[in-house]
Amino acid sequence: MRHQPIPRRDGDGPATTPLWVATAPAGPQLPTLAADVEADVLVIGGGIAGMTTALHLAEAGVDTVLLEAGQPGDRATGWSGGLVAPDYIRHTPETIGSVLGRERGERLSRMIGNSARAVFDLIERHGIACEARQDGFFTPAHSESLSQNQRSYAAQWSARGFDVSFVEGAEARRRFGVERYCGALRFGEGGSINPLAYVRGIAGAALAAGARLFAQSPVETLDRVGDRWVARTPGGTVSARRVVLAANGANATLHPAMRRTALPLHVVQFASAPLDPDQRRSILPEGGAFTDKMPYLFTARLDAHGHLVSAFPVSFMVRGAKAHVREAKRRLAQHFAAMPQPQIDYIWEGLAWVNPSFLPELYDLGDGALAIQACNGRGIGINTQLGIEVAAAIAANNRDALSVQPRAPHPIRLHGGASLLPKMLMSMAYLSN
Ligand SMILES: Cc1cc2nc3c(=O)[nH]c(=O)nc-3n(C[C@H](O)[C@H](O)[C@H](O)COP(=O)(O)OP(=O)(O)OC[C@H]3O[C@@H](n4cnc5c(N)ncnc54)[C@H](O)[C@@H]3O)c2cc1C
Repeated sequence: MRHQPIPRRDGDGPATTPLWVATAPAGPQLPTLAADVEADVLVIGGGIAGMTTALHLAEAGVDTVLLEAGQPGDRATGWSGGLVAPDYIRHTPETIGSVLGRERGERLSRMIGNSARAVFDLIERHGIACEARQDGFFTPAHSESLSQNQRSYAAQWSARGFDVSFVEGAEARRRFGVERYCGALRFGEGGSINPLAYVRGIAGAALAAGARLFAQSPVETLDRVGDRWVARTPGGTVSARRVVLAANGANATLHPAMRRTALPLHVVQFASAPLDPDQRRSILPEGGAFTDKMPYLFTARLDAHGHLVSAFPVSFMVRGAKAHVREAKRRLAQHFAAMPQPQIDYIWEGLAWVNPSFLPELYDLGDGALAIQACNGRGIGINTQLGIEVAAAIAANNRDALSVQPRAPHPIRLHGGASLLPKMLMSMAYLSN
């Protein structure tokens, strides 16, 4: 795999662009919309959700146009950590039944359980060069009681045919190079990718399949005109029979019913300097990616150049760029004995959106309009799956393809105050860390 050279770090501090911008192969050059065009389906947003939908629509022979405000992967997708994590945030295959009912719960578990495989299959099928490593996703436990629960979660997933197991304490500590963990849930089909390279690769595949993709073409208005949807951009319009909103939190700016349906979660993502050989021997020596279950969560993976990529949620307690760098260093030193004085090469802040349900959501906006809103910090796998399913449902005009039942959007009550909640909870989590 060819990479652009990694910029040398100098005394000015870390770069504030995502690591992936320096390491992802260039994507296809996309035109800006400069005419009025027609399509069967319009997809708005060129992150994982929109690009995967456009690819699979085009492969099914559906005439598809995608409009992206910037470049593919410019937002959550290209800012993310690139962990491929086929797991729920809050639920388990057994508890989900009490939320959705048994049948829909099982269906969603199958979709989530298969989401990592969907990512790596797509990468293989299209030969996408994106540092793909299917070497496991882990959720380490920091207490014996959580370990006990995780043994049960492992049994729940494996009873459903998934390669999920529990890794005991000493083995977990050896695998991660972190002394504080007592064990870990292991998802064998998970792993990590360069997320920007991934979405650029999907864009290339979508073009080859016949989708028309436009970059630097922000949708300013989306209106119903007769029996069609018309999206207006600065350079032209798209008129389509059906529309898929895949602009993540910005779906709220595209359709009034999408306002106040998600909460912002600010995350600082960072990458260390490439690890030295001693550190490589003790930190994730066999690869793999993990996100632990602490309220102030800790996460880690390596990229192809040996940078350790990690993150922390933004709170009111750690403010400003310098404090973010100090916190990044503190977190690495706190977890890895082999990194007493970490150097940070890249640090950037991204905006993830969470649904109050902590579950992937599809919203039915009527008149052939669907919105994908499924971030919750697990979008690499789940939004890939949703894009595949939404495309299949549209192409066959049959919603049976969907593991998530589309529903009408409901605004979150007291949304202004609720939007502060993630930062408040993370401030409390920081204090208890
Ligand atoms: C810091 C961070 C770390 C994360 N880490 C992980 C991780 O390790 N693993 C994981 O699974 N998930 C992770 N996530 C979540 C994951 O990145 C997202 O769930 C996923 O990328 C969302 O994809 P998307 O296509 O829905 O949204 P986005 O990637 O946000 O794409 C939406 C696109 O819509 C475009 N857009 C917006 N408005 C308009 C408009 N008016 N017209 C046209 N286009 C528009 C935007 O430019 C953008 O490209 C992370 C998120 C963040 C922020």
